[in-house]
Amino acid sequence: MNRTDYGPAAEKLRDELREWLEENAPEHLRGVSVPRQPTGQLKADLEAWGNCLAEAGWVCVAWPKEFGGRGCSALEMAVIEEEFQRARIPRVTRGMGESLVGPSIIVHGTDEQRAHFLPRIISGQDRYCQGFSEPGAGSDLASLMTKGVVDGDEIVINGQKVWTSWYWDATMLFCLCRTGPNEPKHRGISYVLIPIRRPDGSENGVEFRPLRQMTGQSHFAETFLTDARAPLFNVIGGLNHGWEVAMTTLGNERGGRATTRHVAFREQFDQLVSEVRSRGRSDDPLVRQLLAWSYTHVELLRYQGLQVLARLQSGGDPGAATSSLHKILWSEYQQKLVEQVMNLLGPESLLVGQDYSLPYWLQTFLTSRSDTIWGGTAQIQRNILAERVLGLPREPREASRSRSGPQPSP
Ligand SMILES: Cc1cc2nc3c(=O)[nH]c(=O)nc-3n(C[C@H](O)[C@H](O)[C@H](O)COP(=O)(O)OP(=O)(O)OC[C@H]3O[C@@H](n4cnc5c(N)ncnc54)[C@H](O)[C@@H]3O)c2cc1C
Repeated sequence: MNRTDYGPAAEKLRDELREWLEENAPEHLRGVSVPRQPTGQLKADLEAWGNCLAEAGWVCVAWPKEFGGRGCSALEMAVIEEEFQRARIPRVTRGMGESLVGPSIIVHGTDEQRAHFLPRIISGQDRYCQGFSEPGAGSDLASLMTKGVVDGDEIVINGQKVWTSWYWDATMLFCLCRTGPNEPKHRGISYVLIPIRRPDGSENGVEFRPLRQMTGQSHFAETFLTDARAPLFNVIGGLNHGWEVAMTTLGNERGGRATTRHVAFREQFDQLVSEVRSRGRSDDPLVRQLLAWSYTHVELLRYQGLQVLARLQSGGDPGAATSSLHKILWSEYQQKLVEQVMNLLGPESLLVGQDYSLPYWLQTFLTSRSDTIWGGTAQIQRNILAERVLGLPREPREASRSRSGPQPSP
């Protein structure tokens, strides 16, 4: 891996984490490739490792110290990612709670909401899934129809969501619903944290119907909300002010990994090189072209990450255009790479294991199809670049359409 010196503070953190990982990382998890939906013993092992990380203060590290994080800068986050990669140990996080909900509560929540919700994310007690998209509201998110009605000190929610990733592990749904039907559409939306079960353990009107994918797995679900209830305390940012909170959530989702994504792609590249060598194909000119092309893209992603880091360090905002460029670059690279690897492997690439278990490249080939959809489709990213960077005329849109930009991800 290309090692970059990120300066004294980040390098000090690197030393601290490296030492801690050497002492604490469980040997049986080293080098383990974690599927999107782990089950059985692996799931239990990862949970235990996540709790160990939480106790030692290695989850929610980007959150400010006063809220239980370490206040890590973007440089320090890059170092953390590199060190987990170097130790070949999974970096278990608190998922969407850590990356999306917590940061939104920090910005828009009240002191009481921060004091209540943030420690529960750190401890792993509250695990979130995302209920933004609906059958008629994806790219045009502000068209959402799910209704929220205030009933005493609660809000009652009815409607349908779709594409709910991580439903299978969640205890909470962070959800957008329309509470002001007569307000202009961006203003009549609320951001509600809905418990999946009521305090007494009974159902709370949140029904997940898993959607089976071509991988054979069901990573996401349709979600039906039928008189689901949440205390008004769980409305973040105030009634009818959810759009601002949602924009914070989506901003974190889009920009969050631009600085570190190349690390995983470099590991994938190394794996490809070793597979090519083990098949005796490294002198094949076409294969060498593929490797050179792949290496170039991984380096481009690394440089792009460094550019974002540099902007953040100098107090600048990487901006929507950078997020869009990054999303297009990595998602289209991934799809093209895996397509070519499938061609390289030939018929072997289509072999599935027992119980339809998929080898790495086939699994990645199938899941990469969705990479240009989640987090904002490639077309939406191009619209953003066209309008905000190239200054081209705005796309024609109906008066009622929203400009929400990139949308929720898995
Ligand atoms: C794997 C995966 C996981 C996801 N996880 C979640 C989740 O956990 N929670 C959640 O809420 N959502 C999730 N999503 C939903 C995701 O945010 C939406 O799929 C995405 O925003 C696109 O919306 P849509 O599917 O409704 O497509 P549409 O918006 O209906 O788009 C259909 C097609 O039209 C194109 N299009 C739409 N508008 C324009 C335009 N203005 N200009 C040009 N082309 C346009 C799109 O690019 C696309 O090709 C997930 C999606 C995927 C694939």
